[in-house]
Amino acid sequence: MLSVNDRTKRASGMGAEMHAMLRRLFPICRSITGPGTRETLAILSEDIDLDVVEVASGETVFGWTVPQEWHPRRADITGPDGRIHASFADNNLHLVNGSTAIDAKMSLEELLPHIYSLPEQPDLIPYVTSYYHPHWGFCMSEREKQALTPGTYEVRIDATHSDGALVYGEAVLAGRSDQEILISTYICHPSMANDNLSGVVVAAALYRLLAARDDLFYTYRFLFTPETIGSLCWLKNNETTSVPRIRSGLVLSCLGDDGPFNYKRSRRGDAQIDRVASRLLGDDDTLHDFFPNSGSDERQFCSPGFDLPVGMLSRTYPGQWPYYHTSGDTVERLGPDILGCSLERVEILISGLEAAAAETYVRTEPRGEPMLSKYDLYHRQNLRRNTEADTERDYRGQMMWLLNLADGDHSLQDIAERSGGDLESLREIAGILEKVGLITPLVQSTPITGGPQTDNDRK
Ligand code: ZN
Repeated sequence: MLSVNDRTKRASGMGAEMHAMLRRLFPICRSITGPGTRETLAILSEDIDLDVVEVASGETVFGWTVPQEWHPRRADITGPDGRIHASFADNNLHLVNGSTAIDAKMSLEELLPHIYSLPEQPDLIPYVTSYYHPHWGFCMSEREKQALTPGTYEVRIDATHSDGALVYGEAVLAGRSDQEILISTYICHPSMANDNLSGVVVAAALYRLLAARDDLFYTYRFLFTPETIGSLCWLKNNETTSVPRIRSGLVLSCLGDDGPFNYKRSRRGDAQIDRVASRLLGDDDTLHDFFPNSGSDERQFCSPGFDLPVGMLSRTYPGQWPYYHTSGDTVERLGPDILGCSLERVEILISGLEAAAAETYVRTEPRGEPMLSKYDLYHRQNLRRNTEADTERDYRGQMMWLLNLADGDHSLQDIAERSGGDLESLREIAGILEKVGLITPLVQSTPITGGPQTDNDRK
């Protein structure tokens, strides 16, 4: 086990590696389909034993339809004075992500409804998408838009939509148990660093850290998907296999700005990951109850048909950072130290989950309360030496809480918080209950599946 100082030092070294990876991924024009996501997954595959899964265009997924592949090649506008505006080659945010093609001459009046800008942030190019409704458009700064003069404009977008596949990446690190922790992040955003290359590089670095460990209880499943449609495809493909094995999960989004951490609880609100996050996040950080109206793929994992124990971790909450979804979200705004600190925080949460598992128990017969007198535990006066009568009652009360929450999901720490008891007493009681065979430790009672660290068989 690394000391806190060693962990901080190592995380900062990894910050530089993450930043280098982020710089490499930054120029790629990603979308929910097309060559950008494939190229991104190919780069991630250099470090990660990644399975690239394809889902054919046109497939239906819980009422959604997988869109065609989008292949953007060139886009720009030539003004009446011959000047080039909104060139895709200069910045891929200039083209509406998912835009259809056009090659036409038109007046400024005809062009303007197809130009998106941010009047409140006049120097920034907005990030605009149109995935599911055929539409063409450009994005530019409000200043550039205001400077367009009347006249004839030549508008060219060379992009095609064609049948192919949506792709996502999946990697598994096998632990002792086949119970899984899901780490999910999205790879569909074009050239923006915080949203969401920060999440991508932190997830990739976490994979490298965990791959080097041989003491993991849980199996870790990493997903790199196009947001929404990609996570829905994964949920559909794994509905009866991995999905029921997920014990905790984290969606990683916007981990590169210098704001405090924000954790959004799972829809359940009291899942193990929610309890661990509430214990391990700092005083400056914010915990939110689940809400479905913004965020990322936790909205799919926490839809009512799945209701998975998956929370979302970001620095500044997505949408509240001033450069969110704009050309201001640059590599230069994200320091390696911030990425290192985000990685460290995610690793602390993972260690919290592993530590909780190590002090979690399972009832050998969970149906009903056990017949305590059979084990000499009901009227036993000497459960604890030198106790007063009321302490005795309290001690038995804690035992009843432990017997009730020995469900493989609540750690002794959780039980202490829930019952108002103290951890040391609960450890002592757990020892007594284990000795008489009423409970077994989760870690011991789980069959060891072993296997290689990178286990592609378990999918
Ligand atoms: Zn976004």
